[in-house]
Amino acid sequence: MKKSFTIAVFEGDGIGPEIMAPTLDILELLQNDTSKYRLNFKKVPAGANEYLKSGRALPDKSLEIAKSSDAILLAAMGLPNIRYEDGTEISPQIDLRKELVLFAGVRPVRVMTAAHSPLKIPQDKVIDFVLIRESTEGLFFTQGKGEVEANEARETLRITRNISEKLFNFAFKLAKTRKTLNQGKGDVICVDKANMFRAFAFFREIFEKEAKNHSDITASSAYVDLMALWMVQKPWELDVLVTENMFGDILSELGAGLMGGLGVAPSADIGLDNAVFQPCHGTAPDIEGKDLANPIAMISSAAMMLEWLGLKFGNQYLCEDAAKLQNSIDIIMHDKNNLTQDLGGSATTSQTVAAIQHSLTSQIKP
Ligand code: ATP
Repeated sequence: MKKSFTIAVFEGDGIGPEIMAPTLDILELLQNDTSKYRLNFKKVPAGANEYLKSGRALPDKSLEIAKSSDAILLAAMGLPNIRYEDGTEISPQIDLRKELVLFAGVRPVRVMTAAHSPLKIPQDKVIDFVLIRESTEGLFFTQGKGEVEANEARETLRITRNISEKLFNFAFKLAKTRKTLNQGKGDVICVDKANMFRAFAFFREIFEKEAKNHSDITASSAYVDLMALWMVQKPWELDVLVTENMFGDILSELGAGLMGGLGVAPSADIGLDNAVFQPCHGTAPDIEGKDLANPIAMISSAAMMLEWLGLKFGNQYLCEDAAKLQNSIDIIMHDKNNLTQDLGGSATTSQTVAAIQHSLTSQIKP
C-alpha cells in the first residue's frame, strides 16, 4: 500500500494564499499518524503575480513538479489587472488542464445544508449529483486563438473521439463507484445539443456506444437547455451528468448556485495520470487580504483529493480522512456563527477554519 505522496501546491493569486495556508494546516492535522500515510507538500510558483515577477505564468519547473506529483492542490490564479500583452487573462489552471490532459472536470453538487440553497428542497429529497465537464477541448479549443476580423469573429468547437471515449468511460466508472458507496443510483446523462449541431450528435453517438460497455448503469441523453431547467426543478433526481466544456462551465456555476454559492463549490480536474483539486471560484480580488474569503470550497477540494488518492492507491486511511473532513465541514455549516459573509454569516476566514479544526479534532481524537 502506497503511503507517501507528493502534492504540488499552487497558492496562486488574490485570496489563493489565504485559503491554501489553512487547508495545508488542516491536512497536517489529519495526518498525525504517519504509519497510515504522509503527504509531502511542494509549493510551486505560478499565476499572475509570478508572470509579473518572472515573465512566465506557468514556469517549466512548476509544470515539471506538477507532472511528477501524485496530486495537485490549487487555490486560484489570475488577476483582472494583470494580463498577457494581447489582453487575454492569465489562467495557468487552464494551461495545466491542457498540458496534463485533464479531460474530466468533476463538479460535485451536494447541498450540505438546505438553508443555504436558494431552492425549496422537499424534506425527503437530497441534492447530491456530479457534473462532469470535459475540460480540454469543446468550445475552449480555440481559446485565446479565435479569429477576429473587422465584421466577423470565429471560434471552433472541437470534439474528438479519443477524449470523448475517455470522458464517458470516466463518467460510467464514477457512477459505478457512487452506486457502490450508496451515493447515487447508477445513472449517467449525456448533456448536449445533438438536435442542432452535428458535433454534438457525434458526441452523443460515442456516449451511446460507451454505454453498451456498462450495462449495470442507466444511460440517457438530454439537451442542455432542458438540463438547465431540470437542475432547478428536480435536481434530487440527478446522479452523474457528463457534458462538453462550455456547457459544463455554465452548468457548474448553476450547480454552485444551488449549493449556496462559489464559496462552497469544490472541483477536480482529472486525467489518466494527473489530477488537480481546486475550488470552483476565482481569485476574488475584491476581498483579498480582508480575512473574508470562504475557505470551504478549497478545504472540500482537499477532501476530494484525499478520497481520490485513497481510491487510486488503495489506501483506506485516506478515504476515511476524506470522509471525516467532509463531515466536519457539513457539521459546522449548520451554525451561522461559523459562516463567512457570502453565506450570510459574519465569521472571518480564520473563524471558519478554527470551527472546522475544532470539529475535526473531536473526530480524530477519541
Ligand atoms: P474567474 O474568472 O477566475 O473564475 P470570477 O471573475 O468568476 O473568477 P471570482 O473570483 O470567482 O470571479 O469572484 C466572483 C465573486 O464571488 C466575487 O464577488 C468574489 O468576492 C466572490 N467569491 C469568490 N470566491 C469567494 C470565496 N471563497 N469567498 C467569498 N466570496 C467569494
